[in-house]
Amino acid sequence: MPKFKKFALLLVALIAFSIIYSSIVNFRLANLNGIKIVLDAGHGGRDGGSVGVGGTIEKEINLKYTLALKDKLVKAGYLVELTRKNDDGLYSPTAKNKKLSDMKARFNIIEKANPNLVISIHMNSFSNSSAKGANCYYRAEDEASKQVANLIQQALHTYCNASHTEARVGDYYILNCSYYSAVLVECGFLSNPEEEALLNSDEFRGRMVDAIFSAILLYFG
Ligand SMILES: [Zn+2]
Repeated sequence: MPKFKKFALLLVALIAFSIIYSSIVNFRLANLNGIKIVLDAGHGGRDGGSVGVGGTIEKEINLKYTLALKDKLVKAGYLVELTRKNDDGLYSPTAKNKKLSDMKARFNIIEKANPNLVISIHMNSFSNSSAKGANCYYRAEDEASKQVANLIQQALHTYCNASHTEARVGDYYILNCSYYSAVLVECGFLSNPEEEALLNSDEFRGRMVDAIFSAILLYFG
């Protein structure tokens, strides 16, 4: 084949590839258009949450996982709102009941955002230090929350530390405060020394965030 013909064929193939690739990207972005997720890093400010056997403070590690998940979701084209972006709690400094004030502030952010999904990130703790593994919780009698919670739980079972394959009903304020689909992920036990070390590793955090992200992708189809 003459050289110019080969070159012309290569050029046509390259143009065709770039057209197909850009339509796939545009199609994905168009499909995600408007899907909004509120990410809630549990605790904050004077409420540190649980403290690990090695000294990990729950509010700090919750925020790390939340920000990593946010980055992945934003890069994929989702709209993301955070309840908290830093170490501070959301309570009013003058509030008598700081916990209640903090929870109400989270509720107000969710209501204002009008999201398709709320995901709250926490770390677990238990008196028995052998307790381990991630657990997802959803609001009772809410099918959409149950569906996405099960997808996340299954992904965490396949790729991370979860021993269960089914999510559970959870009686948490963040799940019950609104009618939006909501899942609370307890990523693992800070009371278990091996799991605390694992949860603090960059590799494991990346794997867990990838697993939650892949379940969200699957849920929104
Ligand atoms: Zn917590």
